[in-house]
Amino acid sequence: MGGVDVELLPPAALPEIAFAGRSNVGKSSLINALTGRKSLVKASNTPGRTREINFFLLAEKLMLVDLPGYGYAKAARKDVARWTRLVNAYLAGRPSLRRVCLLIDSRHGIKEVDIEIMNMLDKAAVSYQVILTKSDKVKPGELSATLLAAREIIARRPAAHPEIIATSSQSREGMEALREELGKIVENV
Ligand code: GDP
Repeated sequence: MGGVDVELLPPAALPEIAFAGRSNVGKSSLINALTGRKSLVKASNTPGRTREINFFLLAEKLMLVDLPGYGYAKAARKDVARWTRLVNAYLAGRPSLRRVCLLIDSRHGIKEVDIEIMNMLDKAAVSYQVILTKSDKVKPGELSATLLAAREIIARRPAAHPEIIATSSQSREGMEALREELGKIVENV
């Protein structure tokens, strides 16, 4: 499938939740905060370096899937093409995938590259949910504005989950809400 060996992925036996977002959005930090295991994912401060799909088994019940970050300004065109091929192959051929958490930096809101990912997800009919990250970095008014703008964008999107969760790996805001949401998905298998 476009040069991507999806057969090398682990068997699709457990429900999967995937995490996607622009490089540096705080994805590794969120996965670490969520699982409470610092060793599970190494937080990197070199944007654009992670290029592969990583799988993490959680409590033998759920697979967390760390998709490579996108939108790094210095990424070469061939890297973008490779990302698109890899992620499309995964999204289109993964029956166990229950939801993609689409991470958006609270300071920046939804950008054009995020819209492109949403287009991809809508087209593949993969359910996705916007999760704001780094909420501790913005004032409450700014967070409300980002939330409002994001709500308007997802209202027109067929595969978008209507609820948005604002989180911070630092203050742990929203972490319980996110955990509950993911718990519901596992229960509904
Ligand atoms: P990734 O590239 O998406 O995996 O992003 P990282 O998790 O490596 O985080 C990128 C940078 O943002 C790092 O310097 C983190 O310390 C910082 N960061 C991540 N999450 C938060 C957060 O919730 N609050 C704050 N203040 N900084 C964060």
